[in-house]
Amino acid sequence: MAATYDVIIIGAGPGGYVAAIRAAQLGLKTAIVEREHLAGICSNWGCIPTKALLRSAEVMHLASHAKDYGLTIEGTVKPDLKGIVERSRGIAARMNGGVGMLMKKNKVDVIWGEAKLTKAASGDKPGEITVSKTSKKPMEPQVPAPKNTLGEGTYAAKHIIVATGARPRTLPGIEPDGKLIWTYFEAMVPAAMPKSLLVMGSGAIGIEFASFYRTMGVDVTVVELMPQIMPVEDAEISKFAQKRFEKQGLKFVLEAKVTKVEKGKDTVTAHIEKKDGSVEKLTADRLISAVGVQCNTENLGLEDVGVKLERGAIAIDGYGRTNVAGIYAIGDVAGPPMLAHKAEHEGVICVEKIAGHDVHPLDRALVPGCTYCTPQVASVGLTEAKAKEAGHDIRVGRFPFVANGKAVALGEDQGLVKTIFDKKTGQLLGAHMVGAEVTELIQGFVVAMNLETTEEELMHTIFPHPTLSEMMKESVLDAYGKALNI
Ligand code: FAD
Repeated sequence: MAATYDVIIIGAGPGGYVAAIRAAQLGLKTAIVEREHLAGICSNWGCIPTKALLRSAEVMHLASHAKDYGLTIEGTVKPDLKGIVERSRGIAARMNGGVGMLMKKNKVDVIWGEAKLTKAASGDKPGEITVSKTSKKPMEPQVPAPKNTLGEGTYAAKHIIVATGARPRTLPGIEPDGKLIWTYFEAMVPAAMPKSLLVMGSGAIGIEFASFYRTMGVDVTVVELMPQIMPVEDAEISKFAQKRFEKQGLKFVLEAKVTKVEKGKDTVTAHIEKKDGSVEKLTADRLISAVGVQCNTENLGLEDVGVKLERGAIAIDGYGRTNVAGIYAIGDVAGPPMLAHKAEHEGVICVEKIAGHDVHPLDRALVPGCTYCTPQVASVGLTEAKAKEAGHDIRVGRFPFVANGKAVALGEDQGLVKTIFDKKTGQLLGAHMVGAEVTELIQGFVVAMNLETTEEELMHTIFPHPTLSEMMKESVLDAYGKALNI
């Protein structure tokens, strides 16, 4: 007889583990299945270890510019790659262990292994999954599975949530080999620093690695298919960021694609086809393939129980419900934006709906996006182009970092805060920022948009001085011709 739960979640990434905690808080008997690492890609190979690497890059940058701050450092500041990677891996392991503790604290059963849906719920009968031995190797450093972890077998639940995440997307003929062609996995743990690097794709993952390696002194070229880097961002912000990156020595080839890669003994030569059809050959030590991610929908038994996919992702409604009663999907496997905070929020919405709460469906338009390169980029809502496309008559406000006292005091006077309003209603449609700490600032605008704030309310809000946040208000004032410090 299969052990029976109210909720079983497949995948313990930020979507899955947060859903498990909330389900347990709501009094639902909950289990979570994981095949590789608690805390998922985010804490083990994504959000957190990249931020640890980028922090090392930031400290190195600051240390090598100590003179600008009136400080003398004897000798030159050099990266200790082993130390940088060990720090990043240690932080990943700490996050992973933390999720183990949270599962225990919330009395969520952890089942270790590879899960597959075998039966959908029908009438009073719960759905079922089987859990088999995982083929995944344990990651380094190893984090022991929490005590009392359950193993292979059949488990039943009234509600089964698929939260299996995503993996790197690969292009035919340019498949990562882990040696010369890297995905984010290898890029996160380099054994030696390459002298030169080619990054294919300028989305958040590509740009963050490009920024890290460039700060470490590597000769980096980024190839992007679209006419702008970070294609989902506002064109003006993207252009601003590109100029800053170029000042640091990053090189970009836009409106171009890598069509072929020749592997040498310790180098790769990429054939880069440009818009005009010409082909440039570029040789580098390593190539990072950062052309997006692909949902983990395979070998889950989705077809057997009739769950529908849409553009490679599990099709869901605003509450994570699939077309099959009792089966839900959240996070990366349920489609873009592929971000941890979207996965977490979806997880909470999904289990609260299961528990019968009156919840708002996910509003994808209000999911902020952040890229933690130097300078950072952050945004929420519509870009200027998208706002126009949607038929809005708009007002645009801008405020440069160079006119903000705190930014100047920090030695971070290059950046821009841009806000977009509907001219008629004063509704804040979008906010876009580039510069130091903007990934921390954006939340102010996310709250504002969530509360459907207008320009009036923002203008009557007091922002503390001296802070970078003052630029948010100034940008709003500028949209209405009332900026004070420019
Ligand atoms: P995942 O985190 O992918 O977790 C899914 C889990 O399911 C995994 O642990 C997997 O082992 C498990 N699993 C899969 N199949 C099975 C199965 N059959 N049985 C049992 N277990 C299974 N997002 C941000 O918001 N901010 C960032 O700064 C950021 N930086 C990133 C940097 C990099 C390099 C990468 C790669 C991603 C980054 N992301 C970032 C994206 C973020 O990591 C994902 O959006 C997030 O992890 C998605 O969470 P999830 O729970 O949907 O899936």
